[in-house]
Amino acid sequence: MIKKLLIANRGEIALRIMASAKELGIKTVIVYSEADKNSMPVQLADEAYCIGPASPSDSYLNIPAIMTAAELSGADAIHPGYGFLSENARFAEIVEASGLVFIGPSPKHIQLMGNKQEARKTMESLGVPILPGSNGVIKRIGDARRTAEKIGYPIILKAVAGGGGRGMRIINTPVELEENFTTAQREAYMAFGSPDLYIEKYIERAHHVEVQVIGDGKKAISIGDRECSMQRRHQKIVEEAPSPFISEETRQRMLDVVEKAATSLKLRSLVTFEFLVDQKENFYFIEANTRIQVEHPVTELVTWVDLIKEQILIASGGKMTTKKENLRRIGHAIEARINAEDPQTFSPSPGKIHFLFFPGGNGIRVDTAVFQGYEIPPYYDSMIAKIIAYGRTRREALRKLEVALKHTSIVGVKTNLPLLLKLFESPEFLSGNYTTRFLEEEFVW
Ligand code: ADP
Repeated sequence: MIKKLLIANRGEIALRIMASAKELGIKTVIVYSEADKNSMPVQLADEAYCIGPASPSDSYLNIPAIMTAAELSGADAIHPGYGFLSENARFAEIVEASGLVFIGPSPKHIQLMGNKQEARKTMESLGVPILPGSNGVIKRIGDARRTAEKIGYPIILKAVAGGGGRGMRIINTPVELEENFTTAQREAYMAFGSPDLYIEKYIERAHHVEVQVIGDGKKAISIGDRECSMQRRHQKIVEEAPSPFISEETRQRMLDVVEKAATSLKLRSLVTFEFLVDQKENFYFIEANTRIQVEHPVTELVTWVDLIKEQILIASGGKMTTKKENLRRIGHAIEARINAEDPQTFSPSPGKIHFLFFPGGNGIRVDTAVFQGYEIPPYYDSMIAKIIAYGRTRREALRKLEVALKHTSIVGVKTNLPLLLKLFESPEFLSGNYTTRFLEEEFVW
């Protein structure tokens, strides 16, 4: 069993991991940047080690500094959270080579899924539907033209190594392809260190639905689905479990196909398979994330599975406590991400929180690391809290979430709360049939 866990992350996810570790009687070690010295994770961990200046490349991405802290503290395992080093196969390898436990999938699987084109090919070979597109990396404009003609416009150009909603371009015409191809390669190189692109058919009115998997390296189980179509800049902002759009039959087919593929791959720990679903409920794999997701609480609330605890237990002893026969999905959960950002322009709004109040109550969960007087640093993600509502029905969860958001008060920085509240006046949101384009292109407020 793991005795001491180093958490290589910050903010709400660091606290979420810490809570499960402490519940299991595991000592916790946090690493932090100079900008985070007064943070809640630093105050609540059993031990804390400063690993460098504010900039992520000097601290939360600084592998030698993190490994030194692991050695000094005597930690026997590392949890990478999400973002930062969580999907860095090299980091996972280094952790394992140092004799520590990496809490996540094997480096081999992280590597495979980190290359979106390889992931596409593998999934196709395992019987998971993928979107029509290029069969490999597209290096030359001539190949791009031919592929685009074959599958038909619109298409989407994607960076093989892309992530976080970046490195994608929607292309509607051959002229746009000519204009964008080289720039997209250059941008991919600048942002992800690889200029490699691939092409996919662009689905115009798509839903983003994903499937959460847990595996122990032998067997994998599909835990449940999540609807994540409420997005801005290809980034999720509201998530629900289960998806209100797809039918029970589609859901079951998705869960089954993913479970089969994940079991053949012998996946370990948590993996999320993301799909686009068209208006006819055809679903197509787009990518897999080999880490805990921001939106994991909605799945936890409808299944009662503690996903982080499962991750730790699997990493400790290799056994899953979740059994397929006992798995139930009951009720409905919705998460709203509170971002410190200008709700009109979506640009970050760091600064000091002068007054703060989060509500509680029946069916309300708040995952956050901010407090009154806290200064939100400008160097990291703008998400400062997640408010999650759980109800017996979607309607009940929606009402609870609306009240909770109305009772939330954050003074000192701009947040997207006004935008989130306005969503409750939108028939599309209330109906559950909103696509990935809704928030940015159709929603007027
Ligand atoms: P990232 O890894 O950067 O999050 P994803 O491949 O998961 O990128 O895509 C993020 C979002 O971009 C999707 O949820 C969807 O809104 C949009 N998207 C990606 N691929 C397509 C596509 N082929 N057609 C339509 N929308 C897409």
